Amino acid sequence: MDSRRVFLPGSTIGIMGSGQLGRMLAIAARRMGYRVQTFSPDRHTPTGAVADVEVCASYEDRRAVEAFARQVDVITFEFENIPVESVQWAADFCAVRPSGRVLHVCQHRLREKEFLRRAGLPLAPFSRVGSEEELRAAVEQVGLPAVLKTAAFGYDGKGQLKIQLGADLTAAWARFEGQGAVLEKWVTFSKEISVIVARGVDGRMATFPVCENEHHRHILDVTSVPATVEPEVAARAVALAEAVAEQLDLVGLLAVEMFLMSDGEILINELAPRPHNSGHFSLNACVTSQFEQQLRAVCGLPLGSTELVRPAAMANLLGDLWSEGEPYWAAALRYPEVKLHLYGKDTPREGRKMGHLMAFGPSAREAAETVRAARRSLTPGAE
Ligand code: AMP
Repeated sequence: MDSRRVFLPGSTIGIMGSGQLGRMLAIAARRMGYRVQTFSPDRHTPTGAVADVEVCASYEDRRAVEAFARQVDVITFEFENIPVESVQWAADFCAVRPSGRVLHVCQHRLREKEFLRRAGLPLAPFSRVGSEEELRAAVEQVGLPAVLKTAAFGYDGKGQLKIQLGADLTAAWARFEGQGAVLEKWVTFSKEISVIVARGVDGRMATFPVCENEHHRHILDVTSVPATVEPEVAARAVALAEAVAEQLDLVGLLAVEMFLMSDGEILINELAPRPHNSGHFSLNACVTSQFEQQLRAVCGLPLGSTELVRPAAMANLLGDLWSEGEPYWAAALRYPEVKLHLYGKDTPREGRKMGHLMAFGPSAREAAETVRAARRSLTPGAE
């Protein structure tokens, strides 16, 4: 497969995964005249609702993966926990961007951290843990407090356990037994920031403005843009994201989550080779959204401008908001500069990402105040 091949409008994009990220990519793709097929083990999915074709099969079903790859021109991902083997099967029949190698690195915390360390990029001290003895050794090496994280299939703080000084390590390990894990030093950061970078088939890159992220219960809560950091810090964050994309030889989109320390040092926390929740503001606030940019990158097209039109903020709408019934959408829309995005999920569950609100403002801080106020207005009795 020609690694620089261009796929023009009219081509078919195959999306592995079928959640809200695939949905927003599919909407961008359809707007630009592409056809879209989505592949996942689920039916009636957020992506399926806006795709031309929704394929429901296991990622391990080789015949189904190959049949899907024959139907599309280029496959990309909206979620990185797809077996690398499935990607290799697909790659015999169509272009796959980003490559299986990128997925292999980013779907496994330990591999990702080892890759970053080898590349000489900054990250919190960590140690591999495969047994209780290794956990004890890792605690000696990394120090406490620390956080024990599963090596695979972790997101939104799932599969994480904070280990404090004096903790019972036998009990801690019992919760991870049988799974590879990573012990990471607990860092006291001053801010969490992220940079989304796109890299095309020709190696050209474009980065979105640096995002400032606030988490609640390990899940992203509010992103405001531009991050209130010194220009020199923003430039370093952007340079780090570009360095990661280059080292991965990425074709596609990559989110790099980082911790900004009080002394100005930046540590890389996590990579996601796909659109990212912290980049949703770009749908309304940038000349090109992260989803259109992903499409352009994986189709071999020139990248679009990532210029921020106005300061903006995004607030997630989790299933928790539905605890007293359907939120009162009209209330948020009384704010004329607020945009509502819902992902078409019909079962709200605690912690499940159901949608988001986006607000503009004269500054990122004011946009964040507006988006929080708009979110509060959805459930007037809740406070
Ligand atoms: P992760 O799933 O690794 O991105 O972790 C989710 C969230 O947990 C992060 O965004 C941080 O707020 C927090 N967190 C994770 N690792 C650390 C760490 N080593 N030190 C402090 N906070 C952390």
